[in-house]
Amino acid sequence: MARIPIDIRTGTIKKERIIGIDLGTTNSLVAYMHGDNPAIIANKNTKERLVPSIVYFDENFNAIVGSSAREFLSRFPDRTIYSVKRLMGKAFADVRDELRHLPYRISEAESTSVCKIEISNGKETRLFTPIEISAMILKELKRWADDYFEEPVTKAVITVPAYFNDAQRQATKDAGKLAGLDVLRILNEPTAASLAYGLDKKKNGLIAVYDLGGGTFDISILKLEDGIFDVLSTNGDTHLGGDDIDLALMKHLAIEIQAQFGLDPFRNAQIAQRLRLECERAKRDLSEREETEIHFDVCGKPFNRTLSRHEFEKVIAPVVERTKAPCLKALKDAGVTTSEIDEVVLVGGSTRTPFVKRFVSELFGGKKPHDELNPDEVVALGAAVQAGVLSGDADDILLLDITPLSLGIETVGGVFVPIIPRNSKVPIKVAQEFTTSVDNQTGIDIHVLQGERELAQDNRSLAKFTLKPIPPLPAGMPRILVTFALDANGILTVSAKDQRSGKEQSIEVKPTYGLTDEEVEKMLLAGFEHAQEDVEKRLLIEAQVEANALIAATEKSIERQREIFESLPIEEREAIRTVVAELKSVVTGTDRKLIAEVTEKLNQVTTHFAQEAMNAAVARALERRKVDEVA
Ligand code: ADP
Ligand code: MG
Repeated sequence: MARIPIDIRTGTIKKERIIGIDLGTTNSLVAYMHGDNPAIIANKNTKERLVPSIVYFDENFNAIVGSSAREFLSRFPDRTIYSVKRLMGKAFADVRDELRHLPYRISEAESTSVCKIEISNGKETRLFTPIEISAMILKELKRWADDYFEEPVTKAVITVPAYFNDAQRQATKDAGKLAGLDVLRILNEPTAASLAYGLDKKKNGLIAVYDLGGGTFDISILKLEDGIFDVLSTNGDTHLGGDDIDLALMKHLAIEIQAQFGLDPFRNAQIAQRLRLECERAKRDLSEREETEIHFDVCGKPFNRTLSRHEFEKVIAPVVERTKAPCLKALKDAGVTTSEIDEVVLVGGSTRTPFVKRFVSELFGGKKPHDELNPDEVVALGAAVQAGVLSGDADDILLLDITPLSLGIETVGGVFVPIIPRNSKVPIKVAQEFTTSVDNQTGIDIHVLQGERELAQDNRSLAKFTLKPIPPLPAGMPRILVTFALDANGILTVSAKDQRSGKEQSIEVKPTYGLTDEEVEKMLLAGFEHAQEDVEKRLLIEAQVEANALIAATEKSIERQREIFESLPIEEREAIRTVVAELKSVVTGTDRKLIAEVTEKLNQVTTHFAQEAMNAAVARALERRKVDEVA
């Protein structure tokens, strides 16, 4: 929904200036809404349109950001930080595998807390978090925008890959805050790209957004209906992008360099960095022409060779092929086939490679993908469109996201009850009524879980709280309304309210906090793999719960309605006692059909007793009424 701020002094509608930022692994950009069209904000002096996401620290720990930092990649690889987005919201333990590809140091001090980058000038070592480094990049973008508008800009929309978990999204927000920006919205990159292409104004249909950037790959299947984007499914690989294409080429050339000079370029950080830059340059060149020259200096000796597009494509094919499986998974999850996709959108600098374009086109049944806009600018442009919506510049556009895993609570017997099912559109609010299973409960434990398994213990525990005190009542009498509300930022508010006393308690959690996409996938798969045994287990538990409740109710009645019970024919009393004993003996077993049968048998033999007890209760109530009336 668009928010329109009113200037109180003048009574006019004041437009908030909000910028759109693509904080990329490799490159970052800032854009704004210029009239009806989004536009990139270039550096006022140099006219550069993007800030390479690189930060160099000099001997005095002064930070140099962007293209000027790039030249230090080879001279001071341990003090020139790039690809920091890969480290966002992660602990040292999460990034261990990454280290051999990064020439700078990451502190091993605390493996479970947020990872920190170690910068040393030889005398002193300082630690920087990925959030701080990202904030430096954001500050540079903000400076470009401030210069452009000739006044400070304080509000922004920042994009993140669709697969970013909540810790990573939060880290991105924090970086914005550190840079002096109020981050109004974290927007998924594929959604932004669709906005940039104005696909929301097109006819209804299915859109596949293929985003191959520097460090991440995202595929999203969106459904467009009456101007509304619906994310049907997302998939991807947070460790796949142009960096891997460069690496493949580096490895290819490293073998030759090793053979020619007896030196492994990967063993020397400086040489590896220079080789990386040269490979990237060659790759870009091959997007425009059929052939390029590699010039590389190995310890003063030249390494020269010609690289053809054909050879390059053979080298990078395995990397590009890795995007296929996530695409197919996303299509499968969305329940659509490639032939049903109406539009394919190319995003990310790596989609400039002709081989990638061909690959995507083939993957989607020969459809020509959208590449009219600069693929490394579309995300920032889309962020500007969203910023425009928030500031009231553009028409309302409704953006929908989906929740990847079911959210629910644990009920009696340890059964998981989903309240918000997976793939629900966000924001969403669902309420469901629950009751107690034990007499005179004065508190109710609410255990919030996430996952696809039938039993609570197999799912991921998110939070626990107890609603208390509630007035003690017989089991089944209290009415507890449990409400799950998941907002657009992925924050879940769970509240429990005792409908009789009005007592209410709630808790806020971030379901995706600390959850990687691999884990989400694992949890989804586990749900499918264990589906059958899970259902069996749940049915057994449900049968046991029902049997136990009936045993308890019967025994309670025998005790409380002793007179009535004793008045029953002896054989009826015998039958009730025998079946209670029989049910008690089978209830702990695993034969759920037998438990159900004996439960039904107990129901039958107690019907008469229950009726008598009911009649007596009604008679007593009438009696009391008479007394009341007299009084
Ligand atoms: P990110 O979103 O990860 O920051 P970008 O969308 O800016 O990434 O894409 C960066 C990647 O695109 C880099 O790996 C870069 O080498 C690659 N790239 C940029 N221009 C070209 C080109 N002309 N041909 C092939 N790859 C390119
Ligand atoms: Mg990108």
